[in-house]
Amino acid sequence: MTAPDFNEADRKPRKLHVVTHGCQMNVYDSARMADILRPLGYTTVDRPEGADMVIMNTCHIRERAEEKVFSALGRLRVMKEEQGGNMMIAVTGCVAQAEGEVLARRAPYVDLVVGPQSYHRLPELIAQAHRKQGVVIDTEFPVDQKFDHLPDVAAPQGVVSYLSIQEGCDKFCSFCVVPYTRGAESSRPALSVLAEARRMVALGAREIALLGQNVNAYHGEGPDGATWGLTRLLSEMAEIEGLERLRYTTSHPNDMTDELILAHRDNPKLLPFLHLPVQSGADKILKAMNRKHDAEHFRRVVGKLRDARPDIAFTSDFIVGHPGETETDFQDTMKLVRETGFALAYSFNYSPRPGTPAAALSQVPDEVKNARLYELQAELRRQQDAFNAATVGLTTPVLFTGRGRYDGQVAGRSLWLQPVVVEHGAELTGQIRNVQITSTNTNSIVGVLLPQEQIAA
Ligand code: SAM
Ligand code: SF4
Repeated sequence: MTAPDFNEADRKPRKLHVVTHGCQMNVYDSARMADILRPLGYTTVDRPEGADMVIMNTCHIRERAEEKVFSALGRLRVMKEEQGGNMMIAVTGCVAQAEGEVLARRAPYVDLVVGPQSYHRLPELIAQAHRKQGVVIDTEFPVDQKFDHLPDVAAPQGVVSYLSIQEGCDKFCSFCVVPYTRGAESSRPALSVLAEARRMVALGAREIALLGQNVNAYHGEGPDGATWGLTRLLSEMAEIEGLERLRYTTSHPNDMTDELILAHRDNPKLLPFLHLPVQSGADKILKAMNRKHDAEHFRRVVGKLRDARPDIAFTSDFIVGHPGETETDFQDTMKLVRETGFALAYSFNYSPRPGTPAAALSQVPDEVKNARLYELQAELRRQQDAFNAATVGLTTPVLFTGRGRYDGQVAGRSLWLQPVVVEHGAELTGQIRNVQITSTNTNSIVGVLLPQEQIAA
């Protein structure tokens, strides 16, 4: 790591509050920022009041995500004034990257604006902010990888830990800001990923979710000098003792190779669960979105995965009301949803993002988008309920992650990542135990703990 421009007085104990918006990659980045600042005396606190530093790690994917940043910043401004100015405010993540100068003008009480590729430089930037009047902005895409400069993971993320292995995107979907805010696609070397995974396991992780904007396009340098794809990386990760579960997100249908599909059959630690965004079921819209695959390709990939791992559950992302989407196109999406059957899915109204190609096109009216989203979400909700109901009576291994919401309950995740609660007085965090699912309700699945010798179905 570059030696920060910090003197001893700068290392006094300080309170750091980190707010995370958006995707799991931001969750990972937030944890890493806390790791970077810990040696400088910063300990994380749960509330912004009284904090010496607040980092707002932001998301720019939809307009509403961006609005949230400005209203949260308004509240921080008041707090900062109440603390006599003694609160450093940093905006990081994709809004920082996309709106750097605008942010500095609109919110001049912000001290630092740092893009997602520059946060390893936080110590120097904080030192600069202490010296300088006005906002310090770093939204460069440095040529060297930030991962080379990050310290070792120091704090446990938990039984389920997230590990970024790939960043950025070269696919340029018509609607998406990621290639502009996260930069070109790049993969971390396999050895650095494996070392970090081992460290996470030593800190208590039992499940690791590998993260990337297009995680299944991973192509990192292997220790043998060859390029490793995701399948190879997953099979090496499966060798890590104490690591029980593996998954990866987010995948693009075009990067689901046959080899990776078969890993769902052959890698014993890979969960039967895959997030595979399709966005639309209409070929015309998929083309307009620049997704470079059609609906049939998605159906084929899903079919092959089900052949390889019959109990696999799918989740996906959908956008309704992309420019040019007619009612017939939308009904193609509904058809694909009904045919596929999802355990869960995320769906959004198309939100025009400045600088992306689709934003310049003629837009579908809001009321049309809202009506379509309502129809789609009703079907997806129905499918989610049906999926959960179908697990009643099954016995599944559950990885326990902590206490439940109510006294005497413990909570965990099934093989299909369903949130499961069971009545149990003792601590089970970190253990995998067989649970028979007895009922489901809107937000959780209820089960009973089976004696340890009973084998899961
Ligand atoms: N790389 C992933 C893929 O190709 O599917 C998706 C990453 S993106 C951060 C997460 C999701 O946000 C997308 O799958 C898409 O459904 C949604 N999204 C992205 N841009 C959007 C926009 N302009 N309006 C609405 N939803 C959007
Ligand atoms: Fe965005 Fe995913 Fe498309 Fe890349 S592949 S541009 S991250 S939606």
